Amino acid sequence: MDIPFTGGCACGAIRYKCTGTPRYMGNCHCRDCQRATGSAYFAAVLIRAEEFFLIKGKPNWFETIADKGHPMRRAFCTSCGSPLFLENGARPGGKVLYAGSLDNPEWYKPSRDIYVSSAQPWDIMDPALPKDELMPERLKHEHQKSSCIQAP
Ligand SMILES: [Zn+2]
Ligand SMILES: [Zn+2]
Repeated sequence: MDIPFTGGCACGAIRYKCTGTPRYMGNCHCRDCQRATGSAYFAAVLIRAEEFFLIKGKPNWFETIADKGHPMRRAFCTSCGSPLFLENGARPGGKVLYAGSLDNPEWYKPSRDIYVSSAQPWDIMDPALPKDELMPERLKHEHQKSSCIQAP
């Protein structure tokens, strides 16, 4: 991985740069992330907010309230719809990039799978990665609005 690294949306209207090393990489299989990506999971790259720079364009935001009451804001391109990054209101010092938005996504290396209790049957996970359920039975009814990316 080169530092700084860059990324952006599919149409090129939005470009970003990160000047530091990611603090965490992992796959979130929660329903919010499935909807936001339109796919099986969110390949998430947690970085420090102060090392993140928008260098072109301005995203739009979609906000949900997590089960603990804080906002989860997902940035996307209004022109092409690509998801770009997420802000967790409980962790204002960080930003979470969608690995697919990276210019060189091949360095993405997940350290674990989280919210595997809501993983889809067609979601094929690496059995070598640690798995976090993050979903005790008693909380299942809250899962539709659960927050993810509670990075270690
Ligand atoms: Zn775009
Ligand atoms: Zn998630």
